[in-house]
Amino acid sequence: MTNEKEKCPVCGSADVRDVGRVFHPEPPRVAGVAIDLAGLEFHLLACGKCGFRFKRPFIPTEKLLDCYARADTGNWGVDPDPIQRRFDTLLAVMRRHAPAKAGGALRVLDVGCFNGAMLKYFGDEFDRYGVEPGKEPAAMAGRRGVKMLADTIEQVEGHEGYFDVILSIDVLEHINDPIAFFEKVSRLLKPGGIFIGMTGDTDAPSFRLQGSLYWYVSKLPEHVSFWNRSSMSAAGERCGMRLVDHTRMSHARNPVSDWVVQTGMNLAFAALRPTGGLGIPALRKRVSGRSAPNWIASADHLIDVLRKC
Ligand SMILES: [Zn+2]
Repeated sequence: MTNEKEKCPVCGSADVRDVGRVFHPEPPRVAGVAIDLAGLEFHLLACGKCGFRFKRPFIPTEKLLDCYARADTGNWGVDPDPIQRRFDTLLAVMRRHAPAKAGGALRVLDVGCFNGAMLKYFGDEFDRYGVEPGKEPAAMAGRRGVKMLADTIEQVEGHEGYFDVILSIDVLEHINDPIAFFEKVSRLLKPGGIFIGMTGDTDAPSFRLQGSLYWYVSKLPEHVSFWNRSSMSAAGERCGMRLVDHTRMSHARNPVSDWVVQTGMNLAFAALRPTGGLGIPALRKRVSGRSAPNWIASADHLIDVLRKC
């Protein structure tokens, strides 16, 4: 498949090239729910101008939302360890950049809040709002004191210029139409308000090593959009927001032993793949026509902050 005529969904550049085939697991699952992707061959495309990467062909948004709607409440953890999941890091980033408020609580919206675990950790000093397509997790978030507004950010109405902070954690990689998303974020923020996004970082050395075979691209069919500092900045600029902070870290705090094992497996994969597993059938099966091993312990995520101008 070539897709040379496809334009970058973030900056609109026609300088888009195919950077490799993507192999999803068989059978594919989204949020733990089986999805039919039979007959589709996926590729990773990259924008030469802003650095955004994206998967094609599209998996229709409705098909993904249907899987999220049916996801089990515990799919991403009912009560994840807040420190292991870096909720403290995100709270610190929020406190550092949130606009000063003369009176009243900061209005904080978590887009894709799942069961509200992070907002629960942030505490009731904040006026907490959520958006979540999963029925069961949204109900749990409501019970945790989160004011649930809608299934998706596109459906949020009547809150223009309302929020001091909008967070989106592990969501941007799921978005098919990033500019529509960021335009809506920008409309919902007050002037001076901030957006905090956490997602994969394609500039990370581990990501660069494996390219389209990287676990974050290949293991999860629902991951369709892949960001770095320059594409986040480009998306912000198109929607009236400016990048004010960028940090890179692992998705969660993992034991060092995980990092050692995963790094070893990935380096072996990268070394053996071009040799076809040294011609040894058992090895070839481990490196050909499939994604690289899981490398979630590597520093492959970014936390970026955009401020509405
Ligand atoms: Zn671009």
